[in-house]
Amino acid sequence: MEESASYNPREVAVQQLVDAASRIDVSDSIVEKLKHPKRILQVSIPTRMDDDSFQVFTGYRVQHNTERGPAKGGIRYHPQVTMDEVVALAMWMTWKCAVVNIPYGGAKGGVICNPKEMSLSELERMTRRLTSELIGFIGPDIDIPAPDVYTNPQVMAWIVDTYSMNKGYLIPAVVTGKPVEIGGSLGRNEATGRGCAFVSREALKTQGMDINGATVAVQGFGNAGSVAAKVLEEMGAKIIAVSDSRGGIYCEAGLDVGAAIEHKADTGAVSGLEGCDEITNEELLALECDVLVPAALENAITADNADAVNAKIVAEAANGPTTPEAQAILDDKGVFVVPDILANAGGVTVSYFEWVQGSQMFFWTEDEVNSRLETIMVNSYYGVRAEAQRGNWNMRDAAFNVAVGRVAKAVELRGIYP
Ligand code: GLU
Repeated sequence: MEESASYNPREVAVQQLVDAASRIDVSDSIVEKLKHPKRILQVSIPTRMDDDSFQVFTGYRVQHNTERGPAKGGIRYHPQVTMDEVVALAMWMTWKCAVVNIPYGGAKGGVICNPKEMSLSELERMTRRLTSELIGFIGPDIDIPAPDVYTNPQVMAWIVDTYSMNKGYLIPAVVTGKPVEIGGSLGRNEATGRGCAFVSREALKTQGMDINGATVAVQGFGNAGSVAAKVLEEMGAKIIAVSDSRGGIYCEAGLDVGAAIEHKADTGAVSGLEGCDEITNEELLALECDVLVPAALENAITADNADAVNAKIVAEAANGPTTPEAQAILDDKGVFVVPDILANAGGVTVSYFEWVQGSQMFFWTEDEVNSRLETIMVNSYYGVRAEAQRGNWNMRDAAFNVAVGRVAKAVELRGIYP
């Protein structure tokens, strides 16, 4: 991720906790406990490459909190992963699970590597060795990984297999986001984007706008961004621009999201889609639109470009895309921001459904998954909105109030051992 000198994501995450605690009156000792991750594990991952050389990758797994249930969160493969970033992401998972009220704590993992330059078999060997290094620390009741940036159901399948081979029997619930054929949930792959579309629809409604014909720009066209675009298009919105790390495309009349997905699958980028103009990521962020969906990495909207944002609503499909300074600028401009811990909680919500279905060996239809997801996302949106109205807070502060309040209550009830 981009890490400008003033933005250490871990410091931002701790400050968010401290600020929320002061708004809702949480005791200093509970805040002190929540500032510290429960566990930070760093592992070395020696991996045999296809040319028979070895590379040693570094990986992290951070379990921030398990007060409300097992630690939960994805694993990302990215060259710019840092430990402080993973700590921040783990904290955000704790708040995310609490804001949608599912019985999990928060965790995150990251491996410093460039999966775009690795073959499938190199990725498989690295993933299996990572799993082996994590084996005593993860498990269905301990800490349950899932996909994140540049990891996917296939990576989860390798984790299931490696973990299960070592235990001696199949344990699908060690991860979520698995392929459906080995115990995954229908709708999980689309859940982050779909959940973001649900809250964007509600945000449009409460801000007095109609989703029909609402203009949407999506920065980041991976699993979250592409599905958010597709579902918003199905709901009647007009997707005027999308981008990925290589650049963006713009079409005033609205682009065909399905065609953009196919084009990216064929060429590796959205750029070059017929009928669209080429734009940069910065130009996309400044487009006049009803909903801007940052769906890439942290720190996309900063003090440098927040003033240029020309959207009425920002729905954060990515984790941490808006810096605190940028949030203040957006507040001054009257931009309504639906924060990451709410807007992208659909992924972990269906992860929870996957875990529940797997533990009962009773699987739901896709319609059941989607409608339960909709209920949770819509209720959570209005719960956060009510909190925002209670104290005239913005939606981010309100979401943190709700989440930190729930976790703090759990800490208080359980007490400190021994
Ligand atoms: N990686 C996703 C997130 O950031 C999902 C995590 C999960 O399903 O555990 O929310």
